[in-house]
Amino acid sequence: MMSMLAAAVFLGAAAFSARWTWWRRKADGLPVLVYHKIGRAPAGSRLGELWVTPEKFRAQVAWLLGNGYTTLLFSDLLKAHKGEKNLPAHPVLITFDDGYENNYAEAYRILKELNARGNIFVVYNTIGKANLWHDPAAEPWINMAAPEMLREMLASGVIELGSHTMNHPDLEKISFEDAAWEIAESKKQLQDALGAGICAFAYPYGAGACNPALRESVFKAGYTFDFSFRQGKTPWPWQREAGPIDRLFIRGGDNNLDLYLQLTRGASRLF
Ligand SMILES: [Zn+2]
Repeated sequence: MMSMLAAAVFLGAAAFSARWTWWRRKADGLPVLVYHKIGRAPAGSRLGELWVTPEKFRAQVAWLLGNGYTTLLFSDLLKAHKGEKNLPAHPVLITFDDGYENNYAEAYRILKELNARGNIFVVYNTIGKANLWHDPAAEPWINMAAPEMLREMLASGVIELGSHTMNHPDLEKISFEDAAWEIAESKKQLQDALGAGICAFAYPYGAGACNPALRESVFKAGYTFDFSFRQGKTPWPWQREAGPIDRLFIRGGDNNLDLYLQLTRGASRLF
C-alpha cells in the first residue's frame, strides 16, 4: 500500500515537474512578455494558444503589479538604453504582436484600469483591416485596430507602438530588398501617420532575427531595438551585438505559475 502511494506521489511530482519547469536555474535579464489576442478563440481557430481571455490577462497584470513589477513603455526602455534613466527594480515589458482590435477593446481597457502599460507591434498595411496574412481556413480573419484606436491609445500614455512590418511576411522568404523595404517603410509610414517616434521592431514569426544582414537593415532604418520570438530573458544593459531582445510567450492555457516561472526562469515549459 505504502509503495503504491509513494509511486503515485513520485509520478505526480514528475508530471508536475515536466509541465512546470520550477527546477530550471533562475535567469537574469529583462523579461518581455509577448501576447497576441485578448479574447476567446473563434470557431475554426487553429491558433488557440495565441488567445488569452480578458479575465486571465487581467489576473496576470494584477499579479505583476501585486508582485512589485513595473510595466514599461518602449520610451522607458529607450531612456534606460541611453543611460538617461535606470530601470526599476523589477521591470517588465508587456508586448502584443500584430495590432488586433481586441488589444484596444480588451487589453488597453484592462491596462488603463489597473494603471499598467503595454506596447503593440502593428502591421502597417493591415491597420483598420484584418489579419490578411493568415489563411482564413486556419485562423479566421478578425478586425485589426483602426487608426483612431491607435491614436487614442498613444495619446493616453498607456500604450506605445512598434513596427511589425508592412504586410507581416516571413522576412527570410522574400528578397532582401523587399525585406529591407518592409522594415524601413513601416517605420516611416507609422511615424508619418501617428506623429510618434518608432524605436522598436519585431520580426514576424521571429524570422530573420538571427540574420545579421536583416538585423543590420533594422538598425539602418533607425530602430533602436529589435525583438525576436525566441524564448528567454535578455541581459540588461542590452548590447545590440549580442542579438535581438528575446521574449516570454504567454499562451492561452498559461496560469500565474507559468507567469512566475517565465519571469524568473525565462520559461515555464520544457517545449
Ligand atoms: Zn506577428
